Amino acid sequence: MKIIHNKWFPFGRGMIAINLFGIIFAKQHLSRVDENHEYIHTLQQRELLFIFFYLFYVIEWIIRVIQTRSLIKGYLRISFEREAYENQRQMNYREERRLFAWRKYL
Ligand SMILES: [Zn+2]
Repeated sequence: MKIIHNKWFPFGRGMIAINLFGIIFAKQHLSRVDENHEYIHTLQQRELLFIFFYLFYVIEWIIRVIQTRSLIKGYLRISFEREAYENQRQMNYREERRLFAWRKYL
C-alpha cells in the first residue's frame, strides 16, 4: 500500500487521510489501525472497480446525511466506513474478509 505524506491533502482540519485509487494521502503519521482502515477501503475499491466505489460512496453519504441531518454522522453511517471502522483493529481481517462484505452494513 502506497502512502504519500504531505502537509495539505486531504483538505479540511478533521481529515487526516484519504484513499484515492489505493494510494493513501496522509497529513500525519498513520497508526497500524489507520493503515488497516485504509487498506479495507482499498479492498472495497478494487471489488467495485474503483469508480463504482466512489459513486456509491457519494450517493450513500448524501442519503445518510439526509437521514441523520449531520455531515459527520452521515459519514460514519456509510456502509464502507462502518465496515472499515468495525474491523480496523482486526489485523488479519484483510485475509478473512469476504468479497463485498460492506453490503452487510447497508
Ligand atoms: Zn474510512
